[in-house]
Amino acid sequence: MKNIPLPSSKRILTQLFCILSFFVAVNQSIAQEYKIKTIVIDAGHGGKDGTTRGAYSTEKEVALRTALRLGKTIEAKIPNTKVIYTRTDDTFIPLYERIALANKESADIFISIHCNDMPLVAKRVIASYTKNKAGKRIPVYKTTYTKNTNVKGTETFVSGSGRLDEQDEAIKRENASIFLEDNYEENYAGFGKDDVESQILLSIMKNAYRVQSLNLASLIQDEYVKVGRINRGVQEKSLAVLARAGMPAVLTEIGFLSNPAEEDYLNSESGQEEVVNCLLQAILAYKAKVEI
Ligand SMILES: [Zn+2]
Repeated sequence: MKNIPLPSSKRILTQLFCILSFFVAVNQSIAQEYKIKTIVIDAGHGGKDGTTRGAYSTEKEVALRTALRLGKTIEAKIPNTKVIYTRTDDTFIPLYERIALANKESADIFISIHCNDMPLVAKRVIASYTKNKAGKRIPVYKTTYTKNTNVKGTETFVSGSGRLDEQDEAIKRENASIFLEDNYEENYAGFGKDDVESQILLSIMKNAYRVQSLNLASLIQDEYVKVGRINRGVQEKSLAVLARAGMPAVLTEIGFLSNPAEEDYLNSESGQEEVVNCLLQAILAYKAKVEI
């Protein structure tokens, strides 16, 4: 039998100490106080991007009014919260710039506000009659476009799995500081940037954003339901505006401009107040869930 030298007790102790300090470091970084400090509010569309309209109002106007009102309400009701708007007037802002701003400002939440619309459906109808060479009466068709104006309700989207790779890139590049901070080497016991453990941390972080985004989205839908709005649910979708977000990000459709009653509601003082209050209550509920 080969005589295998037993590891010295000193060596075992040193190894144990290393393992322990790693877990202490990780726990400390998890247990650090977490507060939602910055909220980016994105009014959908703007400028040349704004063709969606109801009978008398446009999506870009209604979204902007709601976004500005939400921002003011957050500032009034949630002290110590910084509100950043992607636009405060009728300006065209490319989608990637909206999320780049949120990433740059290390926002804790990104909320994009939109109004829904039903697609136009083409239909061939008889416009008039004419006679052919044989003198027979034949119809003249024309194409008309109609919308289903009955559909109504609210829905909230989070970035779907189709764009998770882009999120990886976003987290690595834009939000590298999240886990590649100055003291990264200390906190994570010298793990390199590209090794397996870092990739695991990255995927945990990505999933955390997905889970948190879904969480915030359901809280928003819950609030809409409480005030009697139709619930079209939370959906995952490949949305460019959310795909590169390095934070929980949602896109909420506050109602259909193609539905006359909802267009009136979204343009009314009481409707605006109700929608904004739903979003505020959802943010407060989300804060209560995630803040440490
Ligand atoms: Zn939109």
